[in-house]
Amino acid sequence: MTPHGEVETPVFMPVGTLASVKGVSQDVLEELGVQILLGNTYHLYLRPGVAQVRRLGGLHRFMAWPRAILTDSGGFQVFSLSELRKISEEGVTFRSHLDGSSHFFCPESAMGAQIALGADIIMAFDECPEYPAGDGRARASMELTLRWAERSKRYFEEHKGEVPWNAGAGGRATQELFGIVQGGMDPGLRKESAERTVEMDFPGYAIGGLSVGEPRTLTREMVEATVEYLPAEQPRYLMGVGTPEEIVEYAGLGIDMMDCVLPTRAARHGLLFTSAGKVSIKQAKYAGDEGPVDAACGCRVCQRYSRAYLRHLYASNEVLAQVLNTVHNLSFYLDTMRAVRHSISLGKGARFLSEVWPQPRP
Ligand SMILES: [Zn+2]
Repeated sequence: MTPHGEVETPVFMPVGTLASVKGVSQDVLEELGVQILLGNTYHLYLRPGVAQVRRLGGLHRFMAWPRAILTDSGGFQVFSLSELRKISEEGVTFRSHLDGSSHFFCPESAMGAQIALGADIIMAFDECPEYPAGDGRARASMELTLRWAERSKRYFEEHKGEVPWNAGAGGRATQELFGIVQGGMDPGLRKESAERTVEMDFPGYAIGGLSVGEPRTLTREMVEATVEYLPAEQPRYLMGVGTPEEIVEYAGLGIDMMDCVLPTRAARHGLLFTSAGKVSIKQAKYAGDEGPVDAACGCRVCQRYSRAYLRHLYASNEVLAQVLNTVHNLSFYLDTMRAVRHSISLGKGARFLSEVWPQPRP
């Protein structure tokens, strides 16, 4: 339960990088049943700026989104997008990918930014090692992330009630800060990182540092090496995954929350996920195809438009192509998670999760 409504788990969170899920308006996201959105602190910090969002009453109000929001700490984008970053014990200096201007992020400033933005769930500032990481790098990075987690928590506890939109009944702060497990691709480090992060006592835990270019089998291995050391009664969030097949699989491993740019990014490139596998709508073979994208999908796109029309929109570079493709893909992901929740509620649980995903895997 968040101050902006209940979030049923396992849940898929669409990515709204710049306070917008690219191509889809908030009323449509509500209609699709999106319960929680992800916003990126790094992007919002650079544009429009945290102070501006704060003046405008916080992120929920600014983007007119009444349901729950999660913001990441900005760490991952600093490490993946920005240039000339310089990491020290204190924090990280980096250049904006927009205009080359110099900035500094540290646990305290990342918490300050996220408190001002006012998401329901915010993330500790972590360091994400590259893949493959050199010898000793994964441990050093994990130790730094643990020290930064302590600083994040301390700052958060001292400042969490400082903006009015985070105050609940009786003036209690309503934001929750989650810790992040790192440890590279080493199962021993993953276990240690999980145990030491849990000792700090966060209300939820994320598994970070995955989906950074490693093979999928290794991703799964690391999830398995981590998830069993995280308390099952608290939310467990796997950051930045995956395909529809993978999100079902990870839910089966006990993951409660996932986010991924895949459904929205793939949609903009004409790649649609369906119950019969992937459809690349740009292909000429769909030019005369009067069927829907997915006959098993109840979304507003599949109810109304043909593959032929969607192919035409894409080939003509119409803005509507991106909008409709994104709506379908998001709907497919959300329906997949709904089916997983239904399967769990029937008491079938993880063992039968494959039933909600009947088609052969690629
Ligand atoms: Zn559809």
